[in-house]
Amino acid sequence: MKAQPAASHYINGAYVEDDRGRSIEVIYPATGEIIANLYSATPNIVERAVRAAGDAQYKWAKLKPVERGRILRRAADTLRERHAQLGRLETLDTGRAIQETLGDPAVAANAMEFFGSAVASFYGDYVDLGGSFGYSRREPLGVCVGIGAWNFPIQIAAMKAAPALAMGNAMVFKPSENTPLSALALAEIFTEAGLPDGLSNVVQGYGDVGEALASHEMVAKVSVTGSVPTGRKVSGVAASKLKHITMELGGKSPVIVFDDADVENAVSGALTANFYANGQVCSNGTRVFLHEGIREPFLEQLTARTKKIRIGDPLDPDTQMGPLINKGQHQRVLDYIAIGRTEGATLLCGGGIPRLQGFDCGLFVEPTVFADATDSMRIAREEIFGPVMTVLSFRHEDDVVRRANDTQFGLAAGVFTRDLSRAHRVIAELQAGTCWINTYNRTPIELPFGGYKHSGIGRENALAALSHYSQLKSVYVETGDVASPY
Ligand code: NAD
Repeated sequence: MKAQPAASHYINGAYVEDDRGRSIEVIYPATGEIIANLYSATPNIVERAVRAAGDAQYKWAKLKPVERGRILRRAADTLRERHAQLGRLETLDTGRAIQETLGDPAVAANAMEFFGSAVASFYGDYVDLGGSFGYSRREPLGVCVGIGAWNFPIQIAAMKAAPALAMGNAMVFKPSENTPLSALALAEIFTEAGLPDGLSNVVQGYGDVGEALASHEMVAKVSVTGSVPTGRKVSGVAASKLKHITMELGGKSPVIVFDDADVENAVSGALTANFYANGQVCSNGTRVFLHEGIREPFLEQLTARTKKIRIGDPLDPDTQMGPLINKGQHQRVLDYIAIGRTEGATLLCGGGIPRLQGFDCGLFVEPTVFADATDSMRIAREEIFGPVMTVLSFRHEDDVVRRANDTQFGLAAGVFTRDLSRAHRVIAELQAGTCWINTYNRTPIELPFGGYKHSGIGRENALAALSHYSQLKSVYVETGDVASPY
């Protein structure tokens, strides 16, 4: 199985190679097979990409927003047409089941359509100043850098590129070194859609390449999707050079299930909140706070349905869960499962490595549920980023809200209840940027997405993202004489 691209980087509308860079082996996590060999960007590649972006951006920003949008909407059509090919590429790169990844190009397309359309009516204000007047202009920032995580590579690349380009910026994107392939495919699609050369560049590399991009003098903004420690480092570098930032970071989000919840829906929510993408979702609701009143029916159904999850060959359309991304992450998740056992949580199901014929080297972990956890356990406090759900009990609303908020993270939260007043009251108290009532992990492009506290700064999706990829210019227009005291 090979997925070798024409070259490692995509700069100024063409593939570019520089084999003096550190090697990047792209591994299919289901089998351990090397599917592509790439090179991390050298300083020369970083420089070429940023300069190409800088050179192209000025003319692009002069186009009418509707003209820029038209190109993005064309890219959306191609993303939809090629969903089968792109979905397969995403499965090879991430190991995620093809039944999931086939939907990812459509999510990327949604971003192109939304921002490609919304930008035409995203303008400044007119301000009456009593005779004179003022107005504000929304202007692009210039060269923007995007740095991606490995769980949803094409979605992350699209969610950064679409608002940035729509707003008149140029983008240099560095995918995760674990999943470098689909960002290149997206860059090709942009070129085919008519995007002028230099506006969408992809450079490969490890953290040092991300850092070189984030600290480059010509870069106006850095948007990172990754872990909290990475977010801290990049924010520090960007702050020292007064750059704009967006940080989409990690979480340990709560799902609160009250005793009046529809049990089947609440279990569906908890399963989606923990096992989609093999548990590798930033907004996952990994702390499930369960009201004591429905403990038994909920846990019984949860365990039965978890045991039925089909784990195996990611390219089989019936498979629901594939392997984890790499050996390090696999071991980390197994270590947390061992910690959960040692800490005294009750292992309801999973916890092991499934034996799958033909996938001896695959990085699989069974979907795992711990119950009877307490707030101080590490499995209830630290982001595991794998298929491990931790269930905690509660009795009172005030108490569960306090416990749910007792974390440095604040990415997401969910509430399951039939009591509407309670649902809104509790959501208003939860310290999280993205919340759900009676569902989980729905992230339509129309709603802003991002975190409170250490889970992030800024927002992706919706008009909020256009704000974060633009700056506001205020203009005062004098219609009379200059009022001068001199
Ligand atoms: P990571 O932080 O290890 O890496 C993310 C990206 O940052 C990679 O491209 C990496 O090469 C780059 N990087 C690493 N060090 C850097 C540095 N010093 N300077 C610049 N760039 C650097 O994260 P990961 O392991 O790829 O992804 C998992 C994490 O991402 C989890 O914590 C998860 O919650 C988070 N995540 C957040 C969101 C969100 O939208 N909030 C979405 C997906 C994943």
